[in-house]
Amino acid sequence: MGQAIEPATSDALRAAGLPLRGPLPRLLALLAASPDTHLSLAQIEPMALEAGLALRPAELARCLETLVEHGLLGLLPTTGPERVFDTLPQAHAHVIYEDDQVIDLHVSHETLLAMIADALERRPGAVEVVVRFRR
Ligand SMILES: [Zn+2]
Repeated sequence: MGQAIEPATSDALRAAGLPLRGPLPRLLALLAASPDTHLSLAQIEPMALEAGLALRPAELARCLETLVEHGLLGLLPTTGPERVFDTLPQAHAHVIYEDDQVIDLHVSHETLLAMIADALERRPGAVEVVVRFRR
């Protein structure tokens, strides 16, 4: 039923000052094990249910927000109505296509700038660049 809690998950929760008991460790472990790094609440709900995390949607949402507030989950910079959680909490770049495909970019600053310049040159007027500054 339960998801094994990796030591890294426990360490992250402890470092954030969050409880090692209750739903947060299992939720964080569940998200860390997901092959998808960008998940909406609607996508996480059935995963949590299947993993035996009996949380009402409002509780699940509150748990996710707690993980975001403590830097253990990120948020995808989207303009859509639904928040999309990012299981990779460290700052990274994304390529977002209008069909909702999202790709994580883990590249050097130089490569990122070259990719942006290339995209702007190849698709003039069709590329939007969003820079989000984290707290
Ligand atoms: Zn991401």
